[in-house]
Amino acid sequence: MIEFKHVEMQYPNGFKGLKDINVQIEQGEYVAVIGLSGAGKSTFIRCINRMHDITDGELYVNETDVRKLRGAGVRKLRRNIGMIFQSFNLVTRATVLKNVLVSFVPEMPAWRKLLGVFTQEEKRKALTALDQVGILDKAFVRVDQLSGGQQQRVALARTLAQTPGIILADEPVASLDPVTANQVMGDFARINKEMNMTIIMNIHHIDLALEYATRVIGIRAGEIVYDGHAKDVTEEVLNTIYNGQRPIEED
Ligand code: ADP
Repeated sequence: MIEFKHVEMQYPNGFKGLKDINVQIEQGEYVAVIGLSGAGKSTFIRCINRMHDITDGELYVNETDVRKLRGAGVRKLRRNIGMIFQSFNLVTRATVLKNVLVSFVPEMPAWRKLLGVFTQEEKRKALTALDQVGILDKAFVRVDQLSGGQQQRVALARTLAQTPGIILADEPVASLDPVTANQVMGDFARINKEMNMTIIMNIHHIDLALEYATRVIGIRAGEIVYDGHAKDVTEEVLNTIYNGQRPIEED
């Protein structure tokens, strides 16, 4: 479970990115975080894996007090939290399999890092993760030969190979065409169901958020202004979240 209790996050310049956030997210939920650009969506998810430090209140991930963690504690927290970005963050000149194997590097002894040696177990895990996102046949293809949707699936496989309990996704389909975006959203939904993985995703496509996520958190100016079932999101709710300025869907 992830629990925010009266969380505030203030940037060094004094700007409050989050104000009095109170929320509990159970294991296995699929949450879409929506709101205008600059509302605080990224700030919200980045506090969960300590990419940002909260400045007031309490934040727990599986009963661990995130604020108190230091070096090794932060690394342990992040082993259980996969992060997916809009830009995929892949080594495009390397093969798909190599990109997935990279997820094991932080845990490897120095000599294996140096020689780039992976165990059979690591290779098996990487291939299983590629199978889970339907691109096992691309294992030995260079990433720059793949479509955007396939590249996002490689990023998802790299995260799955760590077997995290939680995936944070920051606008994972923002740069994809509508058909591919739907497919990638479907991948997330399947992984959420089959593996009971918690997914917390920032997304500006309202229609995709409402179709795939089960819970919606609406953030406006650093505050949660809606938290409920995706199916209960009405026009009125959207007007509140977006302050009457609904973003124009690009597709
Ligand atoms: P979103 O993901 O909803 O687009 P962010 O969480 O990225 O919004 O940002 C929330 C607010 O915090 C924005 O108004 C942004 O300008 C501000 N912000 C983001 N990063 C910083 C920073 N390093 N210093 C000061 N303000 C920041």
